[in-house]
Amino acid sequence: MNNQSTPNTILEAKGLSRHYSVSRGFLQGHATVKALNDVSFQLAAGKTLAVVGESGCGKSTLARQLTLIEEPSSGHLVIDGVDIANADAAALKALRPKVQMVFQNPFASLNPRKQIGSMLAEPLLLNTRLNASEREQRVREMLNIVGLRPEHYHRYPHMFSGGQRQRIAIARAMMLKPAVLVADEPTSALDVSIQAQILNLFMDLQDELGTAYVFVSHNLAVVEHIADDVMVMYFGSTVEYGDKKTIFEQPLHPYTRALMSATPAIRQEDRRAKMKLTGELPSPLNPPTGCAFSTRCPYADSRCRAEVPPLRPLANRMIACHHIENIAR
Ligand code: SF4
Repeated sequence: MNNQSTPNTILEAKGLSRHYSVSRGFLQGHATVKALNDVSFQLAAGKTLAVVGESGCGKSTLARQLTLIEEPSSGHLVIDGVDIANADAAALKALRPKVQMVFQNPFASLNPRKQIGSMLAEPLLLNTRLNASEREQRVREMLNIVGLRPEHYHRYPHMFSGGQRQRIAIARAMMLKPAVLVADEPTSALDVSIQAQILNLFMDLQDELGTAYVFVSHNLAVVEHIADDVMVMYFGSTVEYGDKKTIFEQPLHPYTRALMSATPAIRQEDRRAKMKLTGELPSPLNPPTGCAFSTRCPYADSRCRAEVPPLRPLANRMIACHHIENIAR
């Protein structure tokens, strides 16, 4: 992990936040839900950042900011050297094809009335000057790259298995050779036997096209397979961020350790004592004071319940915990 942006940095978030105003109900006014708080990272071309945490931790909100589906409330997002806060409509239009997304449910993300060939050709039609036969050639090449057959060109989404549909969704996202692909739980709707094939496809495509991935997942076994860097999020904030080896070999934050303990597929023998994650994420309408994890953390004390721990460097990573020096001993 490198906290300084380098010439190779393709995607950078600096203090990215997204807050929503929601109604508390009749006569109770509005509340501000802080879905994403001051998130920063850098991602180099051809590398993979895995964003992990339970549902409700802010992963999907982050994915929507990165793919320009929503504007951040504050902070900066720099894509291929362009800060979107300073980008005019034309610059934003030029940036959009550079960041593509693959969703969790491949069936819901594919138009059931369109043949696969025309669906995959659509991004080329909208964003390039290729003629019809050139588009068809590119689509057929991509079908081959993602492991589908030529005869699939004229078929409809319902004629495919879940794994094949996810291959189609990945092919569509890759048609414009994006600089960044944001994948939101892309294997969690698939059978375990298919998950490894789809992960291998992601890795092959990255080797071939040099695309950087932001891989959003709650599954640490998947993350261990695919990530270069890992960012653990809790309640909209980063709690631990570092390179995969550092985080997996020596998880320090109590939340990261609890997530790892809950993942049986991960080797546990050389890791720290198991930690059980109890309780639920707090309500965003009624957030805890101080450290957001204090309602579930076995080490929480009065300082934790009063002061928000800042994200700070320690032991080759960034970590947010008041007592980590004592916990890590
Ligand atoms: Fe636990 Fe306190 Fe650290 Fe939060 S700051 S993770 S409550 S010890």
